[in-house]
Amino acid sequence: MKKLTSASIAGDLLAYLLIPLGVLAVVGTGFAYYLSIAFANDAYDRELLNSADSVAIRTRRKSGRILVDLPPYVRNLLRHDNSDRSFYRIESTTGEVITGDPELPDPPANMPLTKPEFSYGNVGPYRVRIVSIRIPVSEKESERTGDSVILQVAETLKARERFSQMLLVSMVMPQILMIAIGGLCIWLGVRRGLRPLGDLRSAIAKRSQYELTPLTADNVPVEVQPLVMAINDLLVRLRDDLDAQRRFVANAAHQLRTPLAGLKTYTGIMQSFQLPPEPTHAVQQLDTALNRVTRMVNRLLALAKAEPNPAMQLEKKKFDITEIAAETTSDLVYEALNKRIELAFEGSEEALMLNGDPGSVRELIMNLVDNAIRYTPEDGHVTVRLLSDKPDVVTLIVEDDGPGIPLDERERVFERFYRVLGTDVPGTGLGLAIVREIARSHEAQVRIEDGIGGKGAAFCVDFPRTA
Ligand code: ADP
Repeated sequence: MKKLTSASIAGDLLAYLLIPLGVLAVVGTGFAYYLSIAFANDAYDRELLNSADSVAIRTRRKSGRILVDLPPYVRNLLRHDNSDRSFYRIESTTGEVITGDPELPDPPANMPLTKPEFSYGNVGPYRVRIVSIRIPVSEKESERTGDSVILQVAETLKARERFSQMLLVSMVMPQILMIAIGGLCIWLGVRRGLRPLGDLRSAIAKRSQYELTPLTADNVPVEVQPLVMAINDLLVRLRDDLDAQRRFVANAAHQLRTPLAGLKTYTGIMQSFQLPPEPTHAVQQLDTALNRVTRMVNRLLALAKAEPNPAMQLEKKKFDITEIAAETTSDLVYEALNKRIELAFEGSEEALMLNGDPGSVRELIMNLVDNAIRYTPEDGHVTVRLLSDKPDVVTLIVEDDGPGIPLDERERVFERFYRVLGTDVPGTGLGLAIVREIARSHEAQVRIEDGIGGKGAAFCVDFPRTA
């Protein structure tokens, strides 16, 4: 059998409450309807018996003949309802019809002397309710000879049927209304009750992958608090695990730096010797590979430092970004000259103060300018610019006229180890991940736009400015 559960709490509650409620309503209404119809039938039967009595008192024997004297008002009385038809018949105990409708069905055999008999029958096309009573008839009131006739009075069922229909409607309608209102209330109640879950969902959805602080359980219903606590517990474990990983990467990178520096010294010494061409080529290859590994190790270390780490909070201070940007740009002039790239710096007259870690901001600028120089072909242009046209924002722009970054890659290039397909410039795929981390820890936004003259790429970083 299929389980009576759905994927929705509201659906489950509605099913578990409304189905039993519906069954109860149907059984209860059926029972009440059956009882009410029995009572109503009783009342209608009593009316029918009254009508029979009115006929009975007007039935007497005169000169040996049975006479029924029914004036018009008594005939009217016989019809309780204008829509119904009524019939009567009197017959002798031997079964011969004395007066009235011969079409009425015969009374039950052996009619008791005292009790009226009720039955259903048909008169022509009509279905009727019939009461049969035995009435004594004698010429004089004082003569009780025991002679009697059988009187039958019948009426069609229209009034009874109308009554039972009205009864049914008046009983079923409130039940349907009750179930509908009950369902609506449950649905509204569940929606209202689940609202804190929605708030919790948006609170989690708004977080970045680095925000692993515990969720607040203040506005959460008691039923959901264990869930929040379990999530918080998981967040703590996740943070510990990430911290351990970060520490491991940082330590490994740090440990690798010394032997790499040693190897670099040896390749330097070997390059100073006059060696035959083949070993010279091998040493050159070794040196290039060592440069690449050193770069990777340095970037891993920079990334571990830039990532949010509660154990190693950066000490923030006020500094002038113009100074740092000018210095970093001039540090890379040599690399630019090697490729005949025109590296320009456009600063600002006034000091542009930021609150943060100058070393990290230098790393950010270094990565952006280094990328621009590496990816721009020879004889290209790279410009580092600082804009302060808004009072509380300083924008750093590093733009070039190189190959640019396609629109659909502009978000992905910030991912770790992600490199645009087809790039033949060697790299680690970590530079922009470091840029994003440093920007994030300084509450800055990074975006990529088109570069110089609509060509190339422009990396824009909006830093919050301090007075
Ligand atoms: P890496 O440069 O070491 O590959 P990054 O994270 O610095 O790693 O850059 C990621 C990718 O973004 C690069 O592989 C490159 O394709 C692209 N990219 C970065 N800067 C530029 C730029 N100035 N011009 C064109 N492409 C760039």
